[in-house]
Amino acid sequence: MNYLLNTYNRFNVEFVKGKNATLWDKNENDYIDFTSGIGVVSVGHGNERLSSAICEQAKNIIHISNLYRIPPQEKLAEKLVKKSGLGNAGVFFCNSGAEANETALKIARKYGEVNGEIKKYKVITLENSFHGRTISTLKATGQPKFHQYFGPFPDGFTYAKNIADIENKIDDKTVAVMLELIQGEGGVNPFDRDEVRDLAKMLKEKDILLIVDEVQTGIYRTGEFLASNLYGIKPDIITLAKGLGGGVPIGAVITTLTDVLKPGDHGSTFGGNYLATRAAIEVIEILDEYKKSKKLDKVINYFDDKLVEIAKEYPDKFDCVSGYGLMKALKCHSSEIRDEIVKKTFEKKVLVLKAGSISVRFLPPLTITKEEIDEGFDRLKAALC
Ligand SMILES: *Cc1c(COP(=O)(O)O)cnc(C)c1O
Repeated sequence: MNYLLNTYNRFNVEFVKGKNATLWDKNENDYIDFTSGIGVVSVGHGNERLSSAICEQAKNIIHISNLYRIPPQEKLAEKLVKKSGLGNAGVFFCNSGAEANETALKIARKYGEVNGEIKKYKVITLENSFHGRTISTLKATGQPKFHQYFGPFPDGFTYAKNIADIENKIDDKTVAVMLELIQGEGGVNPFDRDEVRDLAKMLKEKDILLIVDEVQTGIYRTGEFLASNLYGIKPDIITLAKGLGGGVPIGAVITTLTDVLKPGDHGSTFGGNYLATRAAIEVIEILDEYKKSKKLDKVINYFDDKLVEIAKEYPDKFDCVSGYGLMKALKCHSSEIRDEIVKKTFEKKVLVLKAGSISVRFLPPLTITKEEIDEGFDRLKAALC
């Protein structure tokens, strides 16, 4: 650890084995994983279908560069477009959420340059949002605490307090609005469906792009393939990453603006390589079947009941349950209570996440079993006593 830069406050544990939502440390203690590596390991640890797809691909071609055709990349793009419900759309592949959002911003900026008399370049994002750690996605992130030390930032970002405030922030240079439908890092705060639909309509009328950051909410996290499907909207640009590769790094941008970027405008060395896209295809196929069999909806309901029960049982600690699908939080009465709970749950060997200032966040593998949920909540309760 001494050779690592000090960017994380890590728990002092080494996991050596994983199976679905269960992890084992080197002393053979088992932990229930309600985090899935921050919403990444969507099909669980050690998933056999995913690992054999990755192994088979790794034995052949891992990477060749985007100078040549990559069949699994083409197949994955087709799947993403068809499942997104966006109609005629195209995909760009990269390696992370921040990169996907950078790509979305570049598409918006170029669109704003070539489609009007004056250059439109301003992007409105929301307070309490999270869009990534690169210089411009950090600036897009509406949380000033992240901005300290790293300026100067690129121009053209404006923050709205909430959905209703977006219209007030629009001017003749506004090219796009970028938002999460459920703010994840900000505390698991879903926006109102009708408000979002009205916003989408208003933006369309004004020819302002809607970019939905689905890096956390995408790939069935909310119970639907995309949160945009759940909300019934068709954004101009959707960004994906976390759950898409089941742990293999991959980001993607789906957009109906298929003719904005031209060869040379944008690229990525690793983006969309054989290994990552082969993995993502398998993840989507596993989850498509899982959703179709109604198992996903069942597990979501089961998990939700447990959260509601625990919130009722400990009204002195919890205020309410928030979120959709398997992107949930228990909101605590204070950040002190929250921090104490997260510390104690780790001692009881169940992994949970913090989000915002008062939320205990739950992003379990979508394939978590009833038994793992029961065990996790038993341990969570033990931590609350
Ligand atoms: C995690 C996250 C990001 C950043 O993704 P990275 O892969 O860490 O770059 C961006 N937007 C949202 C909504 C996220 O949850």
